[in-house]
Amino acid sequence: MIHNIPQPVLEQELTNHISKDPNILLVKGFSIHAVDQTDSEVLATIEDRTTGNLHQVKSRHLIACDGRKSKVRELLGIESESEDSDQTMMTIHFNASLRPVVGDRVGMLYWIMDPIAAGFIIGYDLDGTQVHISQVDVKQHPVESWTGELCRAKIRGAIGKEDVPFDILSFRPWVFRRQVAHTFQEGNIFLAGDAAHSFPPTGGLGLNCGLADVHNLAYKIALVHRGVARPSILSTYTSERRGVADSYSRQSVKNGKEIFALLQSLKTVGVEDVAQARKNMADALADPIQHSNVEAGIEGQREHFDNLELHIGYVYGALKPPPHASHYSPKFVAGARLPHAWVKILDQPVSTGKTDKYEALPQEPIDVSYVRELEKREVESRQWSTLDLCGPDSWTLIVGRDQPTSQALILNEGCDSIGVNLNIWRLGVDFEFEGVEGVQVFEDELVERGGVLVRPDQHILARVSLGEEEETLQNVKAHLAV
Ligand SMILES: Cc1cc2nc3c(=O)[nH]c(=O)nc-3n(C[C@H](O)[C@H](O)[C@H](O)COP(=O)(O)OP(=O)(O)OC[C@H]3O[C@@H](n4cnc5c(N)ncnc54)[C@H](O)[C@@H]3O)c2cc1C
Repeated sequence: MIHNIPQPVLEQELTNHISKDPNILLVKGFSIHAVDQTDSEVLATIEDRTTGNLHQVKSRHLIACDGRKSKVRELLGIESESEDSDQTMMTIHFNASLRPVVGDRVGMLYWIMDPIAAGFIIGYDLDGTQVHISQVDVKQHPVESWTGELCRAKIRGAIGKEDVPFDILSFRPWVFRRQVAHTFQEGNIFLAGDAAHSFPPTGGLGLNCGLADVHNLAYKIALVHRGVARPSILSTYTSERRGVADSYSRQSVKNGKEIFALLQSLKTVGVEDVAQARKNMADALADPIQHSNVEAGIEGQREHFDNLELHIGYVYGALKPPPHASHYSPKFVAGARLPHAWVKILDQPVSTGKTDKYEALPQEPIDVSYVRELEKREVESRQWSTLDLCGPDSWTLIVGRDQPTSQALILNEGCDSIGVNLNIWRLGVDFEFEGVEGVQVFEDELVERGGVLVRPDQHILARVSLGEEEETLQNVKAHLAV
């Protein structure tokens, strides 16, 4: 299921969450001014934006999430691999209720082919905030000539109904480009999010990529702080995340090019006279050859919108990026994200780890009762995912049906001795699969042959054949660099 959460809503949600944590100090209104570091600490100079006063903050590590124009990246002199295009785009942020326009055609993205406002609307909230993105014809309307009035005319044309009120909130030009830093780490300082990589929004991959960066990094830093892992584990951050970001950046550019190609096929681009452009479009659609080009152009958008393989199908350490964004396949190899399947937690708690594994489960099960298409039984069977078995602060061993637990316990003891908290989930004893979706492949591929050891970030560290506990333990130690 696709979920579209407007970024301001997500950011507010995160802020609410972390502001409740007494261990986190959230301060706003400061800019990074300078950074310096030794082998063991980072000294950041920050500037109070109101008073201009400088302060110094010492920390063991620093994660720079300061966006595309990252000051920290600049201060560290980290260069990026980048690719510019000559396409200038315009984002118009506006407020309107689009419900009367779209009726029951509720979607997340609306395309406007009419030349008066050709582009697309991201319907973040159909009752409120929307974004219209269009290609700027720099000859006809150079960026400097854009005004609120021109934006109003575009949005009026895009909405297509005179009686729908709207407000223009802002407008901002940007150039279609991708940029990926050569490294995401310099000593104890890390780049994450757009500071490390930025690319066009065509694909909706940017924020998700940033979240996955810190998902990868946070547990590694925690392990170093606790003395469980050596600092060299942190070098796997760049080696694991950079390739993913690079493939996202290339796909986002490709998606954008496919859109431009589609708009070109409508024969409206660069035609100033709207009536003429509309006639060109009608002629193009009436011509069988041009019509088939348009259809091919629409098909060419598939990877833009159907891209699960990019989001969750990548494998850390893989030499090649996923060949097709839309062709997701669950993978049970080291480096892959543990595939999802619905599970039922059996109520026979058997504590096998230092921490009771049941405590590692999310506090609440998933509630999909809002999905109107699902029957009651289906809602009940979609409460826990295999991913929920993997506590964010623990390692997880999922073992197959009828596997001898004594050997799993040997692994558990080995992990315990190096400070790794391991939770063991046994199929048929601690959990059972629910339904059929994704289950057969899980059973066949994985658990029937032994087990799978999962890192705190839900990526597979190793396939485990019971009886090879020593090798598995060596794998864990190698990852921790101990
Ligand atoms: C129109 C549009 C649509 C998009 N749609 C999607 C989508 O559907 N899905 C998706 O995943 N992504 C999407 N993205 C991309 C997404 O918005 C970005 O990838 C995301 O905002 C990056 O988050 P970030 O925290 O790394 O950087 P930013 O959001 O840029 O945040 C950087 C922060 O650092 C602060 N900062 C800057 N300089 C300094 C300094 N010197 N000192 C201290 N602080 C500083 C800034 O004030 C800001 O708060 C879209 C982007 C655009 C433009």
